[in-house]
Amino acid sequence: MGETPFDDMDGDTLHEECGVFGILGHPDAATLTALGLHALQHRGQEAAGLVCFDGQQFHSERRMGLVGDHYTDPAVLARLPGAMAIGHVRYSTTGETALRNVQPLFAELEVGGIAIAHNGNFTNGLTLRRQLIADGAICQSTSDTEVVLHLIARSRQTHSSDRFIDAIRQVEGGYSMVALTRTKLIAARDPIGIRPLVMGELDGKPIFCSETCALDIIGAKYIRDVENGEVIICEIQPDGSITVDSRKAEKPQPERLCLFEYVYFARPDSVVGGRNVYVARKAMGRHLAQEAPVEADVVVPVPDGGTPAAIGFAQESGIPFELGIIRNHYVGRTFIEPTQQIRAFGVKLKHSANRAMIEGKRVVLVDDSIVRGTTSVKIVQMIRDAGATEVHIRVASPMIFYPDFYGIDTPDADKLLANQYSSLDAMCRFIGADSLAFLSLDGLYHAVGGESRNDKAPQFTDHYFTGDYPTRLLDREAPVNNVHRLAVMANHG
Ligand code: AMP
Repeated sequence: MGETPFDDMDGDTLHEECGVFGILGHPDAATLTALGLHALQHRGQEAAGLVCFDGQQFHSERRMGLVGDHYTDPAVLARLPGAMAIGHVRYSTTGETALRNVQPLFAELEVGGIAIAHNGNFTNGLTLRRQLIADGAICQSTSDTEVVLHLIARSRQTHSSDRFIDAIRQVEGGYSMVALTRTKLIAARDPIGIRPLVMGELDGKPIFCSETCALDIIGAKYIRDVENGEVIICEIQPDGSITVDSRKAEKPQPERLCLFEYVYFARPDSVVGGRNVYVARKAMGRHLAQEAPVEADVVVPVPDGGTPAAIGFAQESGIPFELGIIRNHYVGRTFIEPTQQIRAFGVKLKHSANRAMIEGKRVVLVDDSIVRGTTSVKIVQMIRDAGATEVHIRVASPMIFYPDFYGIDTPDADKLLANQYSSLDAMCRFIGADSLAFLSLDGLYHAVGGESRNDKAPQFTDHYFTGDYPTRLLDREAPVNNVHRLAVMANHG
């Protein structure tokens, strides 16, 4: 079949950051889902899938590549009839890329067909998978989603929605899910709401999607965020009306949305957790300018991620904002490339210096985050080559010391730049900048939520900065929480 070899069961499951969309009761369900997925494309450019139900049969299309590459084709949309659909865009950086992992996944169960798409990662996915396989389950993919299908299949509950709830009570981690049965669209968010999920409505028909930008593209109205630990079941009744039932799958816990949605992942025009992402990013830049001021001639964003924070930095510092780097929009995100070598090459393909804005100037470069440091090293060199007299890096988030296991996919600890240097100066020298500063954790909390971190009950999950993982990590040993190091680094030592 030309597919890549199957992963060994002791290998890792896929880490995925993704986007989901679902709609019930609308005659243009597949087209609207494709449009919604197009708006969510920034959450995953590797593959896209749609499953719909036409009252008789389920139909599915799953393709590698961008939404626009396939789902604008009338012939493809004609194969997706019906008034109910769910869809998924996917991006994975570890594990292999194979069509069999592309969501939504579909299974024929005792209760009828069910399709599931999910964004995020289970922290006990591997443990559950091993148990299921030991029990005789046959797994076709390395995706966490398949585990949910198996758990639904094994549930002793009568109704599909009860089986679904039964299944997600057994999984741990960060996820937002949409599922489709013959009559229902189900949406669920993990117990502490690590991944975002919103509910909207178009012509009175319910929609669930990862971000509000997917509602905006189709002119749908935002209703509310799906709450952490909530399962919403929308069902088409025989008379065509739709009922909406909200259930709590878990004991209520305080919400802890992932801070990285604000730092990097979500689209700036989305409203995540009631906050406009662009406004939050600008505030990060303003706080950064207060915390780490610098004398310079021009503030230059590393596009696109650094742009809102650079605007905030420029406004706060009074230093002019200029587009000193031009981004080529026809190259995917650098992170998608699987090897370090190709990633480094990708950065050159993506950014070029706008010499007229750089030459002879002292430049403040603002980026949203430093992960491996690949982007910073390349860009500092590029800005120097274009004639800058000084290059100062300001990063609109704290240093990343810890890997993520909830779908953001920051890499293993030893690949993170912050872990490779024992002082900020050494890191700065490696990057080749004249100065380097990161936004403090408190600055980030203030920018996003308007108040300091409540250490007893943090308002967000910030494990990549602090090592404070918000759930247990059953599949692996938790990385060492090096608080001392963090404290030293946070003081810009
Ligand atoms: P690096 O080059 O490894 O330091 O990555 C940092 C760059 O990648 C920044 O310019 C960010 O905009 C972007 N970035 C940060 N986090 C992620 C992520 N989880 N996935 C993809 N790109 C990211």
